[in-house]
Amino acid sequence: MRKDKVTITPSANLGTAYGTFYQKKCIFAPAVKKYHFPNNSQIMSYSKDAFRFCPFCGSGNFVWDGVKSHACSDCGKKLYTNEVGAVIALIYNADGELLLTTRKFNPAKGMLDLPGGFIDLGETAEQAVVREIKEELNLKVENLQFYGSFPNEYVYAGLTYFTIDIAFVCKVENFDGLSASDDVSDICFKNPKQVNLQEIGLASVRNLIHQLQTKTLL
Ligand SMILES: [Zn+2]
Repeated sequence: MRKDKVTITPSANLGTAYGTFYQKKCIFAPAVKKYHFPNNSQIMSYSKDAFRFCPFCGSGNFVWDGVKSHACSDCGKKLYTNEVGAVIALIYNADGELLLTTRKFNPAKGMLDLPGGFIDLGETAEQAVVREIKEELNLKVENLQFYGSFPNEYVYAGLTYFTIDIAFVCKVENFDGLSASDDVSDICFKNPKQVNLQEIGLASVRNLIHQLQTKTLL
């Protein structure tokens, strides 16, 4: 089915349709449905924010199918859109409080977030967590345990990226060097149950914390 899938650069790798499947299959359906993002209408309208011309032949007849690919009616080629890999770190202090950050830049500048970021080319998700947490917080994380994955829409510089945010619980032996840098403007520790979801900037993080608040913790 996907023989004609092409490899595209990360900047053009803009996400995929995930909404219907995720809503139907996710074991945490009640929690996710409430905060689910992107929804079907956002996926259907995605083509308006993406490609206007076929990247193979330049034709303007390059149409989004509303699910997962653009197709060119002139050269016949397809361009599939998939979720972009990103990571989230769940870091707890000795009191069981969760480390939250404040976003330094848009999207959602000034709102609460969890540390993490995009997976670079060639990296594993685990390597991305270690790198991002060193860059953002100057912390060394270890003993990563997979927690779950959360789809998100990330609009940057006018371009929509549909990400899959892969969350890990991380151990930190020493918080002495903790400091905010890179795209983090501030750091705080909070009991997850006391986090106001409306103060969280990104839907994937909102879904994750909602899950922490409504399910038995780790
Ligand atoms: Zn074409």
